[in-house]
Order: sequence, then C-alpha cells, then structure tokens
Amino acid sequence: MNSTGVFFTARIKLTLWYVGAVLFVSLMFSAIIYAGVSRNIEESFARAELRLRNAPAPGQQMLLKQIAEQQRFQQATASSEHELLHQFFLDELSASKQKVLIQLGFANALILLAATIVSYVLAGKTLQPLEESMLEQKRFIADASHELRTPLTSLKTAIEVSLRNSKLSTDARELLEANLSDVNALHELITSLLQLASQERKSVIKQLVDVHEVISKAVKTIQPLADEKDIHVVKKLKHQQILASESGLTELFTILLENAVKYNKQGGKIWVSAVVQNRKLVVRVRDTGIGINTKYIPHIFDRFYRIDASRTVSQRPGFGLGLSVAKQIAENHKGCITVKSEIGSGTTFTVILPL
Ligand code: ADP
Repeated sequence: MNSTGVFFTARIKLTLWYVGAVLFVSLMFSAIIYAGVSRNIEESFARAELRLRNAPAPGQQMLLKQIAEQQRFQQATASSEHELLHQFFLDELSASKQKVLIQLGFANALILLAATIVSYVLAGKTLQPLEESMLEQKRFIADASHELRTPLTSLKTAIEVSLRNSKLSTDARELLEANLSDVNALHELITSLLQLASQERKSVIKQLVDVHEVISKAVKTIQPLADEKDIHVVKKLKHQQILASESGLTELFTILLENAVKYNKQGGKIWVSAVVQNRKLVVRVRDTGIGINTKYIPHIFDRFYRIDASRTVSQRPGFGLGLSVAKQIAENHKGCITVKSEIGSGTTFTVILPL
C-alpha cells in the first residue's frame, strides 16, 4: 500500500474509533434518559388512572364512559369498567414509551451522522502532521539517493579507467577491483532506493500494454544472468492487453525473474506464464531454486529484509529491496503478489492484476 493508501486507512480507522466512542456515550445517555422518562410516564399514568377511577370530575366521567365503550368494543373479554380503564392506560403507556424510543433512535441517528462527519475531519487533521513528516522523509531519501548517484558514477568511471592501466601492481589492482565491486553494490542500492521512493510517490500513468511484450522484455534483461548459471527459461505467454504502466510492469517482472535466477541452482529451470482468469491477469514465475521457509514468507516483502543475510550477501548480492519495490508496483496497479514455496524444490510468485 502506498503512503496515501496507508493514511486513508488510518484516517478511516481513527474516524471509526471516534464515532464508536461518541456513539457509546450517546447510547449510554439514551438508555439513562429512556429509563428516567419511562419511570416518569408510568408514575404519571398511574396517578392519572387512580384519580380518574376514584373521583372523576363530570367531564372526566364522560371521558371514562367513552374509554370504556371504546375498549369494550375492541376487547370483548375485559370484564369490569376499571379493568377496561387499566387496559386503556397500559396501551397508552406502551405507545408513549415507543414514541420516546423512536425519538431517541432518531436523535442517535443524527448524532451518528454528525459524529461521522466531525470525526472524519478531525482524524484528517490529527494525521496531517504525521503524513507530512513521512512525505518529507521520503523526499529526503529520494533526494539523497539522487545526489549520491552522480559522484558514485564518477568514482566508478575513475576506477574503471585506472584499472585499464597495465603498469598497476597486483596489490593496487586487487584493491581497485574490490573498490569497484563496493561502488557497484552502492550504486545498486541507490538505484533500488530511488525505485522504491519513486514507486511510493507515483500515481500510475496507465496505457494499453501487451503482457507478452513486457514479460519478454524482462526475460531478455535477465537472460545473460540465466545463461551464466545455465538456467533454462520457459515462457507460456499470450498477447493480452492490460491498462498499466509499461515501465512499472517491466520492473516488477524483472525483479521476480532476477530473483528466480539468483536463488536458483546451477542448470535449474524457470517457468513464466500469463493467463486471464475472472477478468484478472495472473502471471506466475516458478523456479527450481532453494525455496523459502514458510516462517519467512510474511517478511520477504519488507524493506531491507533478506533471509539469512550473512550467507546470501556474499553468495547472492542484494539489499532486500527488490520484493518491496515489486509489491509496491503491484499495489499501485490495485493488484497483489502471493508466494508459494517449498524448501529445496522451488518457489512460485503469483502476480494478480485487474484488467
Ligand atoms: P534481495 O534479493 O535483494 O535479497 P528481495 O526483496 O528481492 O531482496 O528478496 C527478499 C528475500 O526473499 C531474499 O533475500 C531471498 O531470501 C528471498 N527470495 C526472494 N525471491 C526468492 C526466490 N525466488 N527463491 C528463494 N528465495 C527468494
């Protein structure tokens, strides 16, 4: 999820908490008001009934008769006039209580509506400084990475030029080669950081993209690496159009294919397929590599996360940023990535993107 999505979700959650708190208080007050009002009505009705029964005024006598008539008409079973009168008061009492309940329900609905609007605005204001500082931090990473790239490129060129000097002593050559390898690693790290920063800020500019073309391009990029390890790449692709960012998708599939090579064994195999299922594009990248232990799977998409970093850094270069970038790209397209893996047999990454 990109930062806008994260903050929107946080805003909705905070709104729900605020609304929940307001509603809890409002319902408690309503329950107390209802209990108090009900008791008052009951007492008033009881007093009125008693007065009417014991000493009805002339006008009230008429009313009493009318009530008795009305009740008798409605309830043939009621025996005495007093019973009919009592029944009348009971009916009126329950009607009054119901009215109070409806009014309280209406008031609570209004409070709920007002609380939702106010809470949404307040949650936005509460989170605004946090969002701004996070954006500032991301801008800083992007700017710093960008600034570091230029001197690193110059350094790399200078070392490469120096290495061409045939008069270099063996020690100096070894030192420069080690320097070059470090500079290359730093360059790769900075490129990944820039990719991540740009994907997190990016609102995707979509165009019609041919999935076959994009995946073939990614395969071509990793082909030299695959050839080095004698890995065979099998493609099962159709020409399917999708509304997406071409560069984003190429980057996403390159990352997955690069990992499929990096974590594969010598002479292994990679299958890459793309099918359409339920109006969704499903791309699978399967390898015959080392596999991933199930307990690490929830973390592999975290930034800078590498399984057994000490061992893999030397054997398989990387900084643990590839899958974070891949996940970010998939989410920018409202899609997702899932993983299935078995230690020693291989791993399958599945990318699902809406068409
Ligand atoms: P990096 O490859 O630079 O370490 P990633 O973010 O691409 O970083 O991958 C994170 C971790 O997930 C890797 O360090 C590796 O342990 C594991 N991983 C990724 N892809 C595969 C794969 N195809 N097979 C086995 N392990 C993998």
